[in-house]
Amino acid sequence: MRIDIRTPGLSTKLPAVGTTIFTVMSALAAEKGAVNLGQGFPDFDCDPQLVSAVTSAMKEGLNQYPPMVGVPVLRDAVAAKLSSLYGRSYDAGSEITITAGATQAILTIIIAVLHPGDEMIVLEPCYDSYVPNIVLAGGTAVLVPLMPGSFRPDFEKIEAAITAKTRAIIINSPHNPSGTVWTDADMHRLQHMLAPTDVLVISDEVYEHMVFDGAQHQSVARFPGLAARSFVVSSFGKTYHVTGWKIGYVAAPAALSAEFRKVHQFNVFTVNTPMQYGIAAYMADPAPYLSLPAFYQRKRDLFREGLKRTRFKLLPSEGTYFQCVDISAVSNLSETAFCKWLTTEIGVAAIPLSAFYADGFDQRVVRFCFAKKDPTLHAALVRLAKL
Ligand code: PMP
Ligand code: GLN
Repeated sequence: MRIDIRTPGLSTKLPAVGTTIFTVMSALAAEKGAVNLGQGFPDFDCDPQLVSAVTSAMKEGLNQYPPMVGVPVLRDAVAAKLSSLYGRSYDAGSEITITAGATQAILTIIIAVLHPGDEMIVLEPCYDSYVPNIVLAGGTAVLVPLMPGSFRPDFEKIEAAITAKTRAIIINSPHNPSGTVWTDADMHRLQHMLAPTDVLVISDEVYEHMVFDGAQHQSVARFPGLAARSFVVSSFGKTYHVTGWKIGYVAAPAALSAEFRKVHQFNVFTVNTPMQYGIAAYMADPAPYLSLPAFYQRKRDLFREGLKRTRFKLLPSEGTYFQCVDISAVSNLSETAFCKWLTTEIGVAAIPLSAFYADGFDQRVVRFCFAKKDPTLHAALVRLAKL
């Protein structure tokens, strides 16, 4: 008997989504032999001591499923860090969960808290996973622009976007892609605005240790009125130069963590055991994350000095490892066309800011990542000097 061999068609859940711009630009950079300042990741290695700590855990036989919420030593280390830096005591048992990176953490939070028809406020430009996550959860993303030009929060617009259906807002400081950092006054304003509401906060703090010029990271954990309604998300990938390890955490009050864990257990269940033990041991010394602002500020300054010799207009970079530039004086191309041209013809890859807007808004700004070895930055600057 003949059988009909065919793949059934399906109706996409994410019609607006293709391959992410990070993947597209990294592939183009590799194909063209360009210096890749596009996708955000370091081109230098992590501390060998961190690799040794993970290797030791593997050699000690710590290779089976860990507890669903993460190994106690790592949750204790995260709680101690949050307490010493931001002054809030999270209970390591009921309020901290280890995740397979921040991307998983954010999707799991959104699935756990949004019901179909709920609204969630997203400040644009934003990291590209947020809006598709909301769509997958059956919610509605309510897009509120950050202030044009400065990328600072526009509290009047945020307040106007809150309705009876608003379940959560996601914030991100230090901010990818703009490099802005929310101030103490911004956080007080948010705390005050949300106080009479039931709106939850998802605070994407993956760049928490990259804040420059003596400023402080304003974690929601510092503000009791915010912390009580917030999921704090961070990623060891950014902090320890291991973006490929995909490991991070969520800190949230026990009631919120309990709901988070219900979804987490059927999403990833557990996270890589030896890495959890290795990172826990490595965290005993705070120096690696405490020295990160100076480490990246030097790279930022080196990169900015070089860019001053081009016709790009430099935007501020207060935090993260990103530097945005206005391309108007250099080219008439759209941001995306410019990034492709820059990669192909000049040999340096960048990311268009339009990739961080649901409607592809083009403001003639592109993002460079300066988490690179000095020789990589110098090589890029030599090429960019032609502009
Ligand atoms: N949020 C932001 C703002 C990011 O830039 C990144 C890094 N790609 C993530 C979340 C995801 O982090 P992770 O690699 O730990 O999933
Ligand atoms: N966070 C990094 C960036 O913004 C990497 C993103 C990714 O590859 N998904 O470039």
